[in-house]
Amino acid sequence: MRRFQCYIAGHFEDGEARFPSVDPATGNAWAEMPESREADVDRAVNAAHDALYGDGPWSKMTATQRGKLLYKLADLVAANAPRLAEIETRDTGKIIRETSSQIAYVADYYRYYAGLADKIEGAYLPIDKPDMEVWLRREPVGVVAAIVPWNSQLFLAAVKIGPALAAGCTLVVKASEDGPGPLLEFARLIDEAGFPAGVVNVVTGFGATCGAALTAHPKVAHIAFTGGAETARHIVRSSAENLASTSLELGGKSPLLVFADADLESAANAQIAGIFAATGQSCVAASRLIVERSVKDRFLSILKAKAEAIRVGSPLDMKTEVGPLATKRQRQHIETLVAASLNAGARLVTGGASPEGDGFFYQPTILDCDDTRSPSLQKEFFGPVLSVVSFETEAQALALANDTLYGLASGIFTQNLTRAHRLMKSLHAGVVWVNTYRAVSPIAAFGGSGLSGDGREGGLAAALGYTRTKTVWLRT
Ligand code: NAD
Repeated sequence: MRRFQCYIAGHFEDGEARFPSVDPATGNAWAEMPESREADVDRAVNAAHDALYGDGPWSKMTATQRGKLLYKLADLVAANAPRLAEIETRDTGKIIRETSSQIAYVADYYRYYAGLADKIEGAYLPIDKPDMEVWLRREPVGVVAAIVPWNSQLFLAAVKIGPALAAGCTLVVKASEDGPGPLLEFARLIDEAGFPAGVVNVVTGFGATCGAALTAHPKVAHIAFTGGAETARHIVRSSAENLASTSLELGGKSPLLVFADADLESAANAQIAGIFAATGQSCVAASRLIVERSVKDRFLSILKAKAEAIRVGSPLDMKTEVGPLATKRQRQHIETLVAASLNAGARLVTGGASPEGDGFFYQPTILDCDDTRSPSLQKEFFGPVLSVVSFETEAQALALANDTLYGLASGIFTQNLTRAHRLMKSLHAGVVWVNTYRAVSPIAAFGGSGLSGDGREGGLAAALGYTRTKTVWLRT
């Protein structure tokens, strides 16, 4: 069985205990993971604190030198992409086609923040006093706790590690207990790139032990979290102890609005990828289709044909389009929610069952929820389930889209760009995609509001979020 180690203060370690990691395609353990508990977390945070505030090389490095290390890391990620992709696929069930292409993005994010490191500027303040020189320095916020969920761990870690290092912070990264392999392997690249000991530490373990110890640690200054809203509440309560700042990237129930004048073929492709990519385990999953009533039947029949043609199978096969869910628990959650939705009157268009055989597979599923109070319109599945409702007027479409406590992503398909402009202003979402879905770039900020959290990742603003200002007054 493959063995992974955590990375603390520049050393690879076995952890206080060990636990098996299950391959979601087979349901069998394939690797053994280190379980970090309170003592490990404490050493990791102290190492990060010493690296930042002690006499070591990181605290003396210029921004340009930090950028050079980040460029090296980006190159190493790109060079090791096949190995990282294979580990992520084995450990989380995410299909190899997606893990391979996403790692290219991961390298791009590190490259972007490498270039940004020496562009994080302070400011000169023209104070109304002739004998005073006053300026703002931008300094690293402190030790960052970066906590990620199982889906897209390398990517979700990169959008925290990249800007935090560019800003000069040090980090303790907590990989999810469900599939920590890719991040633990990534720690070897941190080491190889030459980051001084303690600058980036990678631990893993369970939320209630490892996660809780990390978020309550008195030397943690900022918590960058991606995960569920319930965990976010725990984290915010825990940050009442150390008064750390938080940045929260949470779930979604994102709407895709399809108007009768849209290019229906292109909208259908976006809808299929929007909900079934990553087996639906994506925070931006387009999980609510809001379609104009006059084209609903036609659009649903296109979607049904496409959903039924999806190749579900081994995530290691390049031809597979949908793999298993990451955990048995996740599949049970989906089974329960689909049953509740059908009980509440939703109509099954396709799918709706777990296939026979090994692994945590679930069929690509479409539920027609028109005229129902189906829970599937409100609750996040985090799985391959699309819920459909229809509208007759633009006002109804907007009301349906905003009828959610989440506010992460949204999509509009229409040829009428005036309408798209109107809707874009009124949709409660941190991202609006028009005639496309799921586009990302390191330059573009990403994040939500309400139950989707409050953080912004990507772009310059994310790097500034890892700094705090110091005002210096000098009498001349
Ligand atoms: P989760 O909240 O259960 O776990 C996320 C991480 O938090 C894990 O590493 C876990 O160990 C840790 N954790 C759990 N309890 C903790 C505690 N008390 N203190 C500190 N850490 C703790 O999330 P999940 O179920 O693994 O992931 C799915 C959720 O993540 C979904 O809601 C999804 O939408 C969301 N997500 C959001 C984004 C985004 O960018 N907005 C991206 C991906 C996933």
